[in-house]
Order: sequence, then C-alpha cells, then structure tokens
Amino acid sequence: MKFTFLGTGTSHGIPMIGCSCEVCTSTDVKNKRWRCSLYVVTEGQHLVFDTPPDFREQVLRFGVERVDAVFLTHPHADHIFGFDDVRRFSTLQEQHIPVYGSPETIRMMRTKFEYVDRSSYGFESVPRVCFSEQTKPVSIGNATITPLPVWHGKEMIYGFLIEGDGKRLGYIPDCNSIPDKTLQCLKNLDAMILDGLRPQEHPTHFSIDKAVEMLGRIGARQSFITHLTHNSEHHELQARLGDAVTVPWDGMRVEL
Ligand SMILES: [Zn+2]
Ligand SMILES: [Zn+2]
Ligand SMILES: [Zn+2]
Repeated sequence: MKFTFLGTGTSHGIPMIGCSCEVCTSTDVKNKRWRCSLYVVTEGQHLVFDTPPDFREQVLRFGVERVDAVFLTHPHADHIFGFDDVRRFSTLQEQHIPVYGSPETIRMMRTKFEYVDRSSYGFESVPRVCFSEQTKPVSIGNATITPLPVWHGKEMIYGFLIEGDGKRLGYIPDCNSIPDKTLQCLKNLDAMILDGLRPQEHPTHFSIDKAVEMLGRIGARQSFITHLTHNSEHHELQARLGDAVTVPWDGMRVEL
C-alpha cells in the first residue's frame, strides 16, 4: 500500500489570505499546505479521500493518473469543492466513478452539485459518478474501505479504514472525539493519520496535544497529524513531537 498526502492544511490553506506571519510568508515548501486530501494506491486500486478546492492542482502536481473511487469524509467546503474535477477521470477512464459518503454527505453532494445528476450535458461536461450512501465496508477490487463514524463538533462524520495488500491505514482528518465503537476498529494499524489542528483547543478539531495523546492510545506503527494551521511551523513542530508522530507535508509519499 502506498499513500500520498495531497493536502495537509486546514480550511483556509497555508498561506492564509492576508496573513504576513512567519509561516504564511515562509519560502519552505513544507510550510505550504493545500486543503486535506489523501491518495491511496492499494491492491491496484487508486482511491481518493476528499476532493478539496485545490484538487486540480494537487492531482497535477503529485501525479494522480487514475481514480477508481472517491470517498468523502463530510460535506464541508474545504473537503468537497474540487469535486467537479473528477470529470477528467470519468472522461479519461470512460466510466462512472463510484463516490461514497454517509447518507447525509451524499444528500448534500446531490444538492451542492445538482447538475451532476442531470443527463442533458455532454460526456466531458460533468463528472460521471455513481453516488453511494455508505454505512458498511465496501470493496473496491480487493481493497476494503470501512467508514469510521467520528465527532466533528456536533456533527457525526466519517473517517475511513483502508485495508489492502495486507496493510491497514486509518484516516480521520476532521475530528474532536472518537466513539469507543470506532476506536475498536483502529487496532493493529500500520499507519494512522489524525486531525491535529493547532496548539490551542478548538470546538470541532483535536488540538495537537490531544491528537498526540489519541495517536498514542491507538498505537499504530506509524502516526501522522494533518489539517494543520499557520500556528505550526513545520520543522519546529516536528522537533517538538520527536519520533512518535510525523508531521507530513503536501506531496509526502509513504509506502507501507
Ligand atoms: Zn476540514
Ligand atoms: Zn499566517
Ligand atoms: Zn470539517
């Protein structure tokens, strides 16, 4: 199993518009973060987790050449508003691409992208997709993707457990509390990627310290935080966290 961080930033992205702080003005590419998305290749399947507003540039920069299925964690703007660019893949692959999310997420997608279901447009004009309400594990080829209900403030949204090539990867980019039933699924992981927004507390995201504590409880062989703000300079944060938790950057590739 291989995965690429297509984006690791919070909803504003980094640099943030109109901010002249040390991180937003840094020339280090590790301090530039697009909105969160993950690309996983396993069992020969090419899977995308969220289509943020930066999706087109992420795909071009990091060499995403195929998409066999899209999984959506939740319908917040920073996770879905690059969705239209899925159409290049449905055109290139000449197929409808399956798109999975919770019933609420799929309902919101049909509302926000209502033109996608209309048939009068030509084949290259809209993403050709099959929206699927997911409440159970699904198989994409020999890969298995299981929804992981988590709290994101007052909303119950999804993270995902990705299993393939004998490996197990957990991905929860937006979350401030994990129910016990979901924690039970996060055992014996090869890697875990968890929301660790910023040093300060936040009502809908884990702070960095809370994320590190939760990653310690989960005990994956490799741990990562994501959905970072301009409050964290990449190298300073990595030095503070030491070996236990990796601070990823956009374009970072990991092979399990
Ligand atoms: Zn988000
Ligand atoms: Zn800033
Ligand atoms: Zn969110």
